[in-house]
Amino acid sequence: MKKIETEYCIIGAGIVGLAVARELSLKKKKKIVVCEKEEHAGLHASGRNSGVLHAGIYYKAGSMKASTCIEGNRLMKSFCKSKGVLVRKTGKVIVARNSKELQTLHMLETRAKNNGVEVKLVNAKQLADIEPCAKTYQEALFSPQTAVVDPKVVMQALYDDCTQKGVHVLFNTPFKRFENENTIIAGDYKIQFSKLINCAGAYSDVIAHHRGLAHNLTLIPFKGIYTKLKKSGALKVNGNIYPVPDIRNPFLGVHFTANPYGDVYIGPTAMPVFGREHYGLLQGLGLESASILLDDAVLLFTNKGFRSVALDEPKKYIRYFFYRDARGLVKELLYNDIEKTTKAGIRPQLIDWTKKELVMDFCIYHDAHTVHVLNAISPAFTSSLYFAKLIVDKYCM
Ligand SMILES: Cc1cc2nc3c(=O)[nH]c(=O)nc-3n(C[C@H](O)[C@H](O)[C@H](O)COP(=O)(O)OP(=O)(O)OC[C@H]3O[C@@H](n4cnc5c(N)ncnc54)[C@H](O)[C@@H]3O)c2cc1C
Repeated sequence: MKKIETEYCIIGAGIVGLAVARELSLKKKKKIVVCEKEEHAGLHASGRNSGVLHAGIYYKAGSMKASTCIEGNRLMKSFCKSKGVLVRKTGKVIVARNSKELQTLHMLETRAKNNGVEVKLVNAKQLADIEPCAKTYQEALFSPQTAVVDPKVVMQALYDDCTQKGVHVLFNTPFKRFENENTIIAGDYKIQFSKLINCAGAYSDVIAHHRGLAHNLTLIPFKGIYTKLKKSGALKVNGNIYPVPDIRNPFLGVHFTANPYGDVYIGPTAMPVFGREHYGLLQGLGLESASILLDDAVLLFTNKGFRSVALDEPKKYIRYFFYRDARGLVKELLYNDIEKTTKAGIRPQLIDWTKKELVMDFCIYHDAHTVHVLNAISPAFTSSLYFAKLIVDKYCM
C-alpha cells in the first residue's frame, strides 16, 4: 500500500470537491489531494444535470442555498468567461397553470426579492416577447440572471484549472475506511491528512457515518430522466420554461431548458429509485436496494410531500405522462414533438429520520479533522464556487 501525507484530502471529484480543491489552492494551500472512485471527474450528478445556473429564487431567506446561489451564479459565469466556456444567458420564466399556482408564484416573487434576486412579474403579452411559446395563468415570473452551461464542459475546465494549480487528483481511488483520526484507506493508498473534506455526493452520508457523525441522516436517490424536443418540431424555446414547483419538495418540476447548443431538453423527473447509482433498469441495483425500498415505504406513509412525488413521478416512465406535464407549460406541443434520450441523473436527497422529513438545505457536519458536505443538491452546481469559499473559510483555515 502506497503512503501519502497531505494537508488536505478531499473525497469526490464532483463540482463541490473540485471547487473546494480550487478554493484551497487559491488560498495558497500546497498539499491538496482529491480521491475519486471513478476514472474521470464529474461522472455523477455534476456531469449529468440540466446545466442551469440558477438565480436564487426559490430558497428560504437565511438558508445556505439562498446565501450561496446568487454569488455562486456570478462566480460561475465569471469562471466560464475566463476559461472560454460558453454560457447561454437567456433568462428563465416560471409559469402558473391555475390560480393556486399564481399565489405560489407571488410568494416566490417575494422570496426572490427578499434574497436580493432580480425578478419581474410579467403579463401574458410581456411573456410572449420573452418566450413566445410559453403559456401562463395571468402572470409569469421572469428571471434575467438564469443562464445555461454544458456541465461536462464546466467540469473539464474546473478539473484542468485544479491540476494546473497543483491539485493532485487520484482516480480509481474509492474511500474505504478511516484507519485512525487522521488517516484513511482509499483505493491502494493510505492517506494521512490534517483535514479531510467529504464531498462524496451520493455516498457522503456513508462516509460521515464511518466517522461516527450524522447517524440520523441518510441519502435516498431520486432519478431524473429527460426527453428532448425534436429539431423537426414547430415549438421553439429560447431559454428556460419552468412550472411553479410544489414548494414542500426540493424538486423544481419538469421544465424546458435550451442547452448552449440549442437542443431543448425536457425534464428532469424526480423518481424514487433503489440504488444510489441506479441509472439503468437493473444497472446500479445492489445489496442496499432493499433498505432503500424500506426507507421509501416509511416515507410514503409518513411524509405527504414524498408521497405526492412517489405516486406521481414514476408514471413519467410512460412518455404520455411526461408529455402531459410539458404540455401544461406551452401553448402547443404535439405528442410526436418529443423524443426519448439517454440523459439521466440521480439526486441524492437527505432524509432526517428524527423528523421523517426531506432536508431542504445544504447540510454540513464536522469534527476537529473532518468536514462532511451532505445534501449538496440543486442548486449546488450553481452555488459551488461560492459554497466552496464558505466551507474553506469556516472549516479549513
Ligand atoms: C438530474 C439533475 C439535474 C440537476 N440540475 C441542476 C441544475 O440545473 N443546476 C444546478 O445548480 N444544480 C442541478 N443539479 C444538482 C447538481 O448537479 C448537484 O447539486 C451537484 O452536482 C452536486 O455535486 P457534488 O460534487 O456534491 O456531487 P457529485 O457530482 O455526485 O460528485 C460526488 C463525487 O464523489 C465521488 N464519490 C462517491 N463516493 C466516493 C468514495 N467512496 N470514494 C471516492 N469518491 C467517491 C463520486 O464518484 C462523484 O464523482 C441537478 C442534479 C441532477 C441529478
